[in-house]
Amino acid sequence: MANYVVTSAKPLSDKQKRDIISRLDATERTVAFLVDEALIGGIVISDGDKLLDASVKGKLNAAGRSAADSIANRPLEHIVSSLKEEFSHIEHTGVIQAGVVSSVSDGVIFAEGLSGAKVGELLLVGDDSLAMVMNLEEDDVGAILLTGVGKVGAGAPVRLTDRIVTVPVGEALIGRVVGALGDPIDGAGRIETEFFRRAESPAPGIFDRAKVSEPLCTGVKAVDAIVPIGKGQRELIIGDRQTGKTSLAIDAILAQKHTGVLCVYVAIGQKNSTVSEVIKRLRDSGAMAYTTVVSATASDSPTLQYVAPYTATAMAEELAYQGKDVLIVYDDLSKHAVAYRTISLLLRRPAGREAYPGDVFYVHSRLLERSAKLSKRLGGGSISALPIIETLASDISAYIPTNVISITDGQIFLDTELFRSGVRPAVNVGLSVSRVGGSAQPNAIRSVVKGLKLDLARYRDMAVFTEFGADVDEETKAVLDRGAKLTELLIQPQGAPYTMAEEAAEIYLTSGDKLTNIPKGQVMSALQRVLSYIRSAHPDLLKSIAETGELTEENKAELDVAFTEATRE
Ligand code: ATP
Ligand code: MG
Repeated sequence: MANYVVTSAKPLSDKQKRDIISRLDATERTVAFLVDEALIGGIVISDGDKLLDASVKGKLNAAGRSAADSIANRPLEHIVSSLKEEFSHIEHTGVIQAGVVSSVSDGVIFAEGLSGAKVGELLLVGDDSLAMVMNLEEDDVGAILLTGVGKVGAGAPVRLTDRIVTVPVGEALIGRVVGALGDPIDGAGRIETEFFRRAESPAPGIFDRAKVSEPLCTGVKAVDAIVPIGKGQRELIIGDRQTGKTSLAIDAILAQKHTGVLCVYVAIGQKNSTVSEVIKRLRDSGAMAYTTVVSATASDSPTLQYVAPYTATAMAEELAYQGKDVLIVYDDLSKHAVAYRTISLLLRRPAGREAYPGDVFYVHSRLLERSAKLSKRLGGGSISALPIIETLASDISAYIPTNVISITDGQIFLDTELFRSGVRPAVNVGLSVSRVGGSAQPNAIRSVVKGLKLDLARYRDMAVFTEFGADVDEETKAVLDRGAKLTELLIQPQGAPYTMAEEAAEIYLTSGDKLTNIPKGQVMSALQRVLSYIRSAHPDLLKSIAETGELTEENKAELDVAFTEATRE
């Protein structure tokens, strides 16, 4: 039989020792007495395999565990009340630190008496408001209010909670419209999910990633042909205001309808009317069935606008780590940068270039680094990101645009001039690049797109000369003529994404001299005619291209025949 060991916080008197020995059934055992100040108070008795813990330290640990259990896995609405409950209980022990709000301005608070605060920690402010710690100063901490903006005043009590912002995630979020903290705002009731994730979490490391090699078709010809995107890639959409940035991203979401790719659209700092227009477009075309919308509009506080994209990424991550492919659209990160600038200036951080704080690059890089193709070990899911940036007067060398260009794997540059002249989507073929997507382009498209790119490049070079009204020879004329027709090929109405097979077929139909006899201005309608002829007279052709992902010699021959038949009438 094992002997007893009695550990106490302070040395015990002889009487206390006798008392303990008489209570233990210790006739055949010895009892050893030890002192351990770490117990704070009380005693711990062990007999080798059993342990009776009556120490203050043990009680505190148990209370901490029960607080953690009741907070994890609870919907957001319950977190605040449970925090209140748990911490009012523990407060008597003096373990949880409490401070007081010393000043408030536009969702940013400063609080004193919280020397143990950590950056990113959640604070309980007043009765039920939550704030997130941003600044640690010598005498106070700066935090941003996530709830209760406008309600909290100076003098309100603040408590540390030792947790960071978590948001509801999981499949229950699909089809829903939620606010910046994952709270439902679509009037469709509570979100029933057991899963929660930290809004901010580290990006997958080098060995957690796989090569971007599968195509993510956007259904937009100009993008899939010239700047192809792969699953796990981050491709920036950049352009002035009203150049079709949102429309391009929404078309990419619509194109995922039958592909199994899930989508997250996060609206940051936009007008309420614009966001409701987007939601309506997604609903009307059935895309809400696989999409989550996270919205922090211009009327929400800058603090919520700042948090929204991280929340949306957490939602995308949950799905990606289940092995699914996710497309996330950040619309847009310029407004996110502005929200962060507002917060930073209110937090009295030093202003840097264009008054943005020095760490705005890190704010965006740690967000976009979370989009990746995951390795097989992690389930092989992916997050592809389409961040949007708005430029002023097409200046892509401003601070925020250059930052995000350098973080992403390429950019789709939308040109105001092209947009005005009717080339929509206004993709500037010369300035747009995709740094990894080439290897992820479907073979069917890759095999036909080379000539297209080359002809468009030659057209761009020569078009410059004709601006001066120079006389041109026959050969140049032919290049210009073909270039103008190919530009027409890339024009596409909004809300009508193509399938990969349709894109490959259409691009093939512009090869060789097939366009020669079609007059300028009629290329689009002619090609549409051919496509609908193919759908009725050669129904299996597009199916076979879609299934194999290749454009075989037989497919090409059949396309040639269809073209002749359709244009003969
Ligand atoms: P903002 O800067 O205000 O966010 P934006 O760059 O996101 O604008 P959109 O809102 O997508 O631009 O589009 C601007 C206008 O252009 C809309 O009226 C839209 O209908 C139109 N548009 C966009 N794409 C096309 C297209 N491919 N064909 C025709 N019209 C288009
Ligand atoms: Mg927009």
